Amino acid sequence: QLSQRLRGINGGGSDGWDVFLKARKMIAAGEDVTELTIGEHDIGTAAPVLREMYDTALAGNTGYAAVPGIEALREAVAARVSARTGVPTTSANVLITPGGQSALYSAHIAALDAGDTGLIIDPFYATYPYTVRAAGATPVSIGARAADAFQPRAEAIAARAPGAKSLLINSPNNPTGVVYSRTTLEGIAQVCTDHDLWLISDEVYDTQVWEGAHISPRSLPGMAERTLVVGSLSKSHAMTGSRCGWLVGPEEAITDLISLATNITYGVPGFIQLAGLFALRQGEAFEAEISEPFRRRRQLAHDVLAGQNAVAMVPAQGAMYLMLDVRATGLSGEGFANDLLDTHRIAVMPGESFGEAASGHIRVAMTVADDVFVTALRRLCAHAETLA
Ligand code: PLP
Repeated sequence: QLSQRLRGINGGGSDGWDVFLKARKMIAAGEDVTELTIGEHDIGTAAPVLREMYDTALAGNTGYAAVPGIEALREAVAARVSARTGVPTTSANVLITPGGQSALYSAHIAALDAGDTGLIIDPFYATYPYTVRAAGATPVSIGARAADAFQPRAEAIAARAPGAKSLLINSPNNPTGVVYSRTTLEGIAQVCTDHDLWLISDEVYDTQVWEGAHISPRSLPGMAERTLVVGSLSKSHAMTGSRCGWLVGPEEAITDLISLATNITYGVPGFIQLAGLFALRQGEAFEAEISEPFRRRRQLAHDVLAGQNAVAMVPAQGAMYLMLDVRATGLSGEGFANDLLDTHRIAVMPGESFGEAASGHIRVAMTVADDVFVTALRRLCAHAETLA
Protein backbone atom coordinates (compact mmCIF):
# COMPACT_ATOMS: atom_id res chain seq x y z
CA GLN A 1 0.00 0.00 0.00
CA LEU A 2 1.44 3.37 -0.99
CA SER A 3 1.51 6.05 1.67
CA GLN A 4 -1.55 8.21 2.25
CA ARG A 5 0.59 11.29 1.74
CA LEU A 6 1.65 10.20 -1.74
CA ARG A 7 -1.79 9.03 -2.78
CA GLY A 8 -3.34 12.17 -1.39
CA ILE A 9 -1.26 14.59 -3.45
CA ASN A 10 -3.64 14.88 -6.37
CA GLY A 11 -6.60 15.01 -4.01
CA GLY A 12 -8.60 12.62 -6.17
CA GLY A 13 -9.84 15.48 -8.35
CA SER A 14 -9.44 16.27 -12.02
CA ASP A 15 -6.34 18.34 -12.53
CA GLY A 16 -7.75 20.66 -15.19
CA TRP A 17 -5.27 19.72 -17.90
CA ASP A 18 -7.77 18.04 -20.24
CA VAL A 19 -7.70 20.73 -22.95
CA PHE A 20 -3.93 20.86 -22.81
CA LEU A 21 -3.64 17.07 -23.15
CA LYS A 22 -6.14 17.04 -26.00
CA ALA A 23 -4.12 19.74 -27.80
CA ARG A 24 -0.93 17.74 -27.31
CA LYS A 25 -2.59 14.69 -28.85
CA MET A 26 -3.76 16.74 -31.84
CA ILE A 27 -0.24 18.10 -32.35
CA ALA A 28 1.23 14.60 -32.10
CA ALA A 29 -1.25 13.53 -34.78
CA GLY A 30 0.14 16.24 -37.06
CA GLU A 31 -2.59 18.87 -36.64
CA ASP A 32 -1.68 22.55 -36.81
CA VAL A 33 -2.63 23.81 -33.32
CA THR A 34 -1.76 27.29 -31.99
CA GLU A 35 -0.49 26.51 -28.48
CA LEU A 36 -1.32 29.22 -25.94
CA THR A 37 -1.39 27.03 -22.85
CA ILE A 38 2.00 26.75 -21.16
CA GLY A 39 4.09 29.54 -19.61
CA GLU A 40 7.19 28.97 -21.62
CA HIS A 41 9.01 31.53 -23.78
CA ASP A 42 9.00 31.13 -27.54
CA ILE A 43 12.73 31.84 -27.43
CA GLY A 44 15.21 29.41 -25.89
CA THR A 45 17.86 30.21 -23.29
CA ALA A 46 20.22 32.91 -24.62
CA ALA A 47 23.27 31.55 -26.46
CA PRO A 48 25.87 33.21 -24.18
CA VAL A 49 24.24 31.56 -21.15
CA LEU A 50 24.29 28.19 -22.88
CA ARG A 51 27.92 28.74 -23.87
CA GLU A 52 28.79 29.44 -20.23
CA MET A 53 27.02 26.23 -19.22
CA TYR A 54 28.89 24.25 -21.85
CA ASP A 55 32.29 25.79 -21.15
CA THR A 56 31.88 25.29 -17.41
CA ALA A 57 30.93 21.65 -17.83
CA LEU A 58 33.72 21.08 -20.31
CA ALA A 59 36.20 22.64 -17.87
CA GLY A 60 35.35 19.83 -15.47
CA ASN A 61 32.56 21.23 -13.32
CA THR A 62 30.48 18.06 -13.57
CA GLY A 63 30.76 16.72 -10.03
CA TYR A 64 28.53 17.21 -7.01
CA ALA A 65 27.95 20.86 -6.24
CA ALA A 66 27.52 22.34 -2.76
CA VAL A 67 24.06 21.31 -1.57
CA PRO A 68 22.93 24.80 -0.38
CA GLY A 69 24.14 26.23 -3.69
CA ILE A 70 27.46 27.59 -4.91
CA GLU A 71 28.46 30.43 -2.59
CA ALA A 72 28.85 32.98 -5.40
CA LEU A 73 25.32 32.32 -6.64
CA ARG A 74 23.86 32.46 -3.13
CA GLU A 75 25.62 35.79 -2.67
CA ALA A 76 24.34 37.11 -6.00
CA VAL A 77 20.77 36.17 -5.08
CA ALA A 78 21.22 37.73 -1.63
CA ALA A 79 22.54 40.95 -3.18
CA ARG A 80 19.60 41.05 -5.58
CA VAL A 81 17.09 40.56 -2.76
CA SER A 82 18.83 43.14 -0.54
CA ALA A 83 18.74 45.70 -3.36
CA ARG A 84 15.08 45.08 -4.15
CA THR A 85 13.73 44.88 -0.61
CA GLY A 86 16.08 47.07 1.42
CA VAL A 87 16.29 44.18 3.90
CA PRO A 88 19.89 43.08 4.54
CA THR A 89 20.10 39.55 3.11
CA THR A 90 23.13 37.27 3.10
CA SER A 91 23.95 33.93 1.51
CA ALA A 92 22.84 32.28 4.77
CA ASN A 93 19.29 33.36 3.87
CA VAL A 94 19.44 31.66 0.45
CA LEU A 95 18.95 28.07 -0.64
CA ILE A 96 19.51 27.34 -4.35
CA THR A 97 16.88 24.89 -5.60
CA PRO A 98 16.04 23.00 -8.80
CA GLY A 99 13.57 25.68 -9.94
CA GLY A 100 10.85 27.60 -8.16
CA GLN A 101 8.72 24.49 -7.93
CA SER A 102 11.18 22.81 -5.59
CA ALA A 103 11.46 26.03 -3.57
CA LEU A 104 7.66 26.02 -3.18
CA TYR A 105 7.79 22.48 -1.83
CA SER A 106 10.66 23.31 0.55
CA ALA A 107 8.79 26.38 1.81
CA HIS A 108 5.71 24.32 2.63
CA ILE A 109 7.76 21.63 4.34
CA ALA A 110 9.31 24.40 6.45
CA ALA A 111 5.96 25.96 7.35
CA LEU A 112 3.58 23.05 7.73
CA ASP A 113 3.28 19.88 9.77
CA ALA A 114 1.23 16.94 8.56
CA GLY A 115 -2.44 17.71 9.16
CA ASP A 116 -1.97 21.50 9.14
CA THR A 117 -3.83 23.90 6.90
CA GLY A 118 -2.08 25.94 4.20
CA LEU A 119 -3.99 28.84 2.65
CA ILE A 120 -3.86 29.59 -1.07
CA ILE A 121 -5.52 32.30 -3.13
CA ASP A 122 -7.92 31.23 -5.89
CA PRO A 123 -7.25 31.58 -8.85
CA PHE A 124 -3.94 29.82 -8.23
CA TYR A 125 -1.02 28.42 -10.21
CA ALA A 126 -2.25 24.92 -10.94
CA THR A 127 0.29 23.06 -8.78
CA TYR A 128 -0.39 24.95 -5.52
CA PRO A 129 -2.95 22.59 -3.95
CA TYR A 130 -0.70 19.65 -4.83
CA THR A 131 2.32 21.28 -3.21
CA VAL A 132 0.42 21.88 0.03
CA ARG A 133 -0.81 18.28 0.02
CA ALA A 134 2.71 17.01 -0.80
CA ALA A 135 3.73 18.57 2.53
CA GLY A 136 1.04 16.45 4.20
CA ALA A 137 -1.24 19.44 4.81
CA THR A 138 -4.66 20.50 3.57
CA PRO A 139 -5.00 23.39 1.12
CA VAL A 140 -7.80 25.85 1.80
CA SER A 141 -8.46 28.34 -0.95
CA ILE A 142 -9.70 31.89 -0.60
CA GLY A 143 -11.38 33.39 -3.63
CA ALA A 144 -10.10 36.62 -5.13
CA ARG A 145 -12.97 38.20 -7.03
CA ALA A 146 -13.12 39.37 -10.61
CA ALA A 147 -15.02 42.38 -9.22
CA ASP A 148 -11.90 43.32 -7.17
CA ALA A 149 -9.68 42.89 -10.26
CA PHE A 150 -8.47 39.69 -8.55
CA GLN A 151 -6.68 41.55 -5.73
CA PRO A 152 -7.26 39.36 -2.67
CA ARG A 153 -9.08 41.01 0.23
CA ALA A 154 -7.40 40.91 3.64
CA GLU A 155 -10.77 40.36 5.40
CA ALA A 156 -11.44 37.26 3.31
CA ILE A 157 -8.01 35.86 4.24
CA ALA A 158 -8.47 36.79 7.91
CA ALA A 159 -11.76 34.85 7.94
CA ARG A 160 -9.91 31.62 7.02
CA ALA A 161 -6.72 32.31 8.96
CA PRO A 162 -7.61 30.93 12.43
CA GLY A 163 -5.94 27.53 12.71
CA ALA A 164 -3.97 27.89 9.47
CA LYS A 165 -0.15 27.94 9.42
CA SER A 166 0.78 29.43 6.07
CA LEU A 167 -0.47 31.64 3.28
CA LEU A 168 0.84 31.30 -0.27
CA ILE A 169 0.63 34.33 -2.54
CA ASN A 170 1.87 35.00 -6.08
CA SER A 171 2.48 38.44 -7.55
CA PRO A 172 2.80 39.11 -10.47
CA ASN A 173 0.13 36.47 -10.68
CA ASN A 174 -0.28 33.38 -12.76
CA PRO A 175 -2.97 33.05 -14.11
CA THR A 176 -4.51 36.53 -13.75
CA GLY A 177 -1.52 38.78 -14.57
CA VAL A 178 -2.47 40.92 -11.57
CA VAL A 179 0.28 42.65 -9.57
CA TYR A 180 -0.64 43.01 -5.90
CA SER A 181 -0.85 46.61 -4.73
CA ARG A 182 0.92 47.91 -1.64
CA THR A 183 -2.48 48.13 0.10
CA THR A 184 -3.19 44.48 -0.69
CA LEU A 185 0.24 43.40 0.56
CA GLU A 186 0.06 45.49 3.72
CA GLY A 187 -3.34 43.96 4.49
CA ILE A 188 -1.92 40.47 3.91
CA ALA A 189 1.10 41.24 6.12
CA GLN A 190 -1.22 42.35 8.92
CA VAL A 191 -3.25 39.13 8.70
CA CYS A 192 -0.06 37.04 8.78
CA THR A 193 1.17 38.90 11.85
CA ASP A 194 -2.21 38.75 13.63
CA HIS A 195 -2.61 35.01 13.01
CA ASP A 196 1.05 33.99 13.17
CA LEU A 197 1.15 32.67 9.60
CA TRP A 198 4.17 31.97 7.44
CA LEU A 199 3.86 34.00 4.26
CA ILE A 200 5.15 32.13 1.22
CA SER A 201 5.64 34.66 -1.57
CA ASP A 202 6.05 33.24 -5.07
CA GLU A 203 7.86 35.95 -7.03
CA VAL A 204 8.98 34.02 -10.10
CA TYR A 205 7.50 36.71 -12.40
CA ASP A 206 9.10 39.65 -10.57
CA THR A 207 10.88 40.93 -13.69
CA GLN A 208 7.67 40.96 -15.73
CA VAL A 209 5.77 44.01 -14.56
CA TRP A 210 4.00 46.21 -17.11
CA GLU A 211 2.10 48.52 -14.78
CA GLY A 212 2.77 49.55 -11.20
CA ALA A 213 5.69 48.06 -9.31
CA HIS A 214 6.52 44.67 -7.88
CA ILE A 215 6.70 44.82 -4.09
CA SER A 216 8.12 41.88 -2.18
CA PRO A 217 6.40 41.41 1.19
CA ARG A 218 9.86 40.64 2.59
CA SER A 219 10.36 44.41 2.42
CA LEU A 220 7.40 45.20 4.71
CA PRO A 221 8.07 45.99 8.40
CA GLY A 222 8.51 42.87 10.53
CA MET A 223 7.82 40.50 7.63
CA ALA A 224 11.33 39.22 6.78
CA GLU A 225 11.22 36.85 9.76
CA ARG A 226 7.98 35.17 8.65
CA THR A 227 8.31 35.35 4.86
CA LEU A 228 9.73 32.69 2.54
CA VAL A 229 10.37 34.07 -0.95
CA VAL A 230 10.35 31.78 -3.98
CA GLY A 231 12.45 32.91 -6.95
CA SER A 232 13.60 31.36 -10.21
CA LEU A 233 15.56 31.99 -13.39
CA SER A 234 12.92 30.10 -15.40
CA LYS A 235 10.78 33.07 -16.44
CA SER A 236 13.14 36.01 -15.87
CA HIS A 237 16.03 34.49 -17.87
CA ALA A 238 14.22 32.04 -20.17
CA MET A 239 15.83 29.10 -18.36
CA THR A 240 12.83 26.87 -17.65
CA GLY A 241 14.67 23.66 -18.53
CA SER A 242 17.73 24.48 -16.44
CA ARG A 243 15.85 24.10 -13.15
CA CYS A 244 17.54 26.85 -11.22
CA GLY A 245 15.68 28.76 -8.53
CA TRP A 246 15.92 29.72 -4.88
CA LEU A 247 14.21 30.12 -1.57
CA VAL A 248 15.02 33.15 0.59
CA GLY A 249 14.04 33.21 4.24
CA PRO A 250 15.21 33.33 7.85
CA GLU A 251 18.60 31.67 8.33
CA GLU A 252 17.18 29.03 10.69
CA ALA A 253 14.67 27.87 8.06
CA ILE A 254 17.31 27.78 5.34
CA THR A 255 19.74 25.81 7.53
CA ASP A 256 17.11 23.14 8.23
CA LEU A 257 16.02 23.05 4.59
CA ILE A 258 19.60 22.27 3.57
CA SER A 259 19.14 18.98 5.45
CA LEU A 260 16.00 18.35 3.38
CA ALA A 261 17.87 19.16 0.15
CA THR A 262 20.68 16.81 1.18
CA ASN A 263 18.13 14.02 1.26
CA ILE A 264 16.15 14.88 -1.87
CA THR A 265 18.04 16.78 -4.54
CA TYR A 266 21.62 16.82 -3.29
CA GLY A 267 21.93 20.19 -4.95
CA VAL A 268 21.65 21.72 -8.40
CA PRO A 269 24.33 20.84 -11.00
CA GLY A 270 27.34 23.16 -10.72
CA PHE A 271 27.46 24.04 -14.43
CA ILE A 272 23.79 25.06 -14.27
CA GLN A 273 24.41 27.22 -11.22
CA LEU A 274 27.40 28.94 -12.81
CA ALA A 275 25.42 29.60 -15.98
CA GLY A 276 22.66 30.97 -13.73
CA LEU A 277 25.18 33.25 -12.02
CA PHE A 278 26.41 34.40 -15.43
CA ALA A 279 22.80 35.10 -16.47
CA LEU A 280 22.10 37.10 -13.29
CA ARG A 281 25.25 39.15 -13.86
CA GLN A 282 23.96 40.26 -17.28
CA GLY A 283 21.80 42.73 -15.35
CA GLU A 284 18.42 44.33 -15.78
CA ALA A 285 18.73 45.26 -19.47
CA PHE A 286 19.12 41.56 -20.30
CA GLU A 287 16.05 40.70 -18.18
CA ALA A 288 14.03 43.49 -19.80
CA GLU A 289 14.95 42.17 -23.25
CA ILE A 290 13.71 38.68 -22.36
CA SER A 291 10.39 40.04 -21.09
CA GLU A 292 9.87 42.64 -23.82
CA PRO A 293 7.82 40.33 -26.13
CA PHE A 294 5.18 39.90 -23.38
CA ARG A 295 4.92 43.64 -22.82
CA ARG A 296 4.50 44.12 -26.57
CA ARG A 297 1.94 41.32 -27.00
CA ARG A 298 -0.12 42.59 -24.10
CA GLN A 299 -0.42 45.90 -25.96
CA LEU A 300 -1.27 44.06 -29.18
CA ALA A 301 -3.99 42.21 -27.27
CA HIS A 302 -5.46 45.53 -26.07
CA ASP A 303 -5.67 46.66 -29.68
CA VAL A 304 -7.33 43.43 -30.88
CA LEU A 305 -9.84 43.35 -28.03
CA ALA A 306 -10.87 47.00 -28.39
CA GLY A 307 -14.13 47.36 -30.25
CA GLN A 308 -15.65 43.95 -29.51
CA ASN A 309 -17.85 42.98 -26.59
CA ALA A 310 -17.76 39.20 -26.39
CA VAL A 311 -14.43 38.94 -24.57
CA ALA A 312 -13.20 41.18 -21.74
CA MET A 313 -9.61 41.33 -20.57
CA VAL A 314 -8.68 41.30 -16.90
CA PRO A 315 -6.20 44.21 -16.66
CA ALA A 316 -2.88 42.34 -16.93
CA GLN A 317 -0.20 44.26 -15.03
CA GLY A 318 2.46 41.57 -15.21
CA ALA A 319 3.54 38.00 -16.07
CA MET A 320 3.22 36.30 -19.44
CA TYR A 321 -0.53 35.62 -19.53
CA LEU A 322 -3.84 37.25 -20.29
CA MET A 323 -6.96 36.30 -18.41
CA LEU A 324 -10.01 36.75 -20.61
CA ASP A 325 -13.58 36.83 -19.38
CA VAL A 326 -15.73 34.80 -21.79
CA ARG A 327 -18.91 34.74 -19.69
CA ALA A 328 -20.75 36.75 -22.38
CA THR A 329 -20.62 33.61 -24.57
CA GLY A 330 -22.72 31.71 -22.05
CA LEU A 331 -20.02 29.04 -21.82
CA SER A 332 -17.77 28.03 -18.96
CA GLY A 333 -14.04 28.59 -19.47
CA GLU A 334 -13.71 24.87 -20.06
CA GLY A 335 -16.57 24.81 -22.55
CA PHE A 336 -15.14 27.76 -24.45
CA ALA A 337 -11.59 26.35 -24.46
CA ASN A 338 -12.82 23.00 -25.79
CA ASP A 339 -14.95 24.68 -28.41
CA LEU A 340 -12.08 26.93 -29.51
CA LEU A 341 -9.74 23.97 -29.83
CA ASP A 342 -12.23 21.91 -31.82
CA THR A 343 -13.33 24.77 -34.09
CA HIS A 344 -10.18 26.82 -34.58
CA ARG A 345 -7.31 24.61 -33.40
CA ILE A 346 -6.36 27.19 -30.75
CA ALA A 347 -5.40 25.82 -27.33
CA VAL A 348 -5.87 27.94 -24.19
CA MET A 349 -6.26 27.01 -20.52
CA PRO A 350 -9.75 27.09 -18.98
CA GLY A 351 -9.98 29.41 -15.97
CA GLU A 352 -11.38 26.45 -14.03
CA SER A 353 -7.92 24.83 -14.17
CA PHE A 354 -6.84 27.45 -11.64
CA GLY A 355 -9.65 27.10 -9.11
CA GLU A 356 -13.22 28.35 -9.01
CA ALA A 357 -12.74 32.11 -8.93
CA ALA A 358 -11.71 32.25 -12.59
CA SER A 359 -14.55 30.13 -13.92
CA GLY A 360 -16.00 31.63 -17.08
CA HIS A 361 -12.51 32.85 -17.97
CA ILE A 362 -9.67 31.50 -20.06
CA ARG A 363 -5.93 32.02 -19.67
CA VAL A 364 -3.97 32.84 -22.80
CA ALA A 365 -0.18 32.47 -22.67
CA MET A 366 1.48 35.19 -24.78
CA THR A 367 4.11 32.74 -25.89
CA VAL A 368 3.97 32.65 -29.68
CA ALA A 369 5.30 35.08 -32.30
CA ASP A 370 3.42 38.39 -32.52
CA ASP A 371 1.69 37.68 -35.85
CA VAL A 372 0.57 34.20 -34.74
CA PHE A 373 -0.63 35.66 -31.44
CA VAL A 374 -2.65 38.43 -33.08
CA THR A 375 -4.22 36.05 -35.61
CA ALA A 376 -5.17 33.62 -32.84
CA LEU A 377 -6.68 36.40 -30.71
CA ARG A 378 -8.69 37.74 -33.65
CA ARG A 379 -10.08 34.27 -34.33
CA LEU A 380 -10.78 33.79 -30.63
CA CYS A 381 -12.76 37.05 -30.48
CA ALA A 382 -14.63 36.28 -33.70
CA HIS A 383 -15.51 32.87 -32.30
CA ALA A 384 -16.76 34.41 -29.03
CA GLU A 385 -18.86 36.87 -30.99
CA THR A 386 -20.66 34.06 -32.82
CA LEU A 387 -21.67 32.68 -29.40
CA ALA A 388 -22.47 35.89 -27.50
N1 PLP B 1 5.33 29.61 -9.66
C1 PLP B 1 4.52 30.03 -10.65
C2 PLP B 1 3.47 31.03 -10.32
C3 PLP B 1 4.65 29.53 -11.94
O1 PLP B 1 3.82 29.95 -12.90
C4 PLP B 1 5.65 28.56 -12.20
C5 PLP B 1 5.79 27.97 -13.54
O2 PLP B 1 4.99 28.14 -14.42
C6 PLP B 1 6.47 28.16 -11.13
C7 PLP B 1 6.30 28.71 -9.88
C8 PLP B 1 7.53 27.13 -11.30
O3 PLP B 1 8.58 27.60 -12.05
P1 PLP B 1 9.99 26.88 -12.10
O4 PLP B 1 9.92 25.65 -11.26
O5 PLP B 1 10.26 26.58 -13.53
O6 PLP B 1 10.92 27.88 -11.53
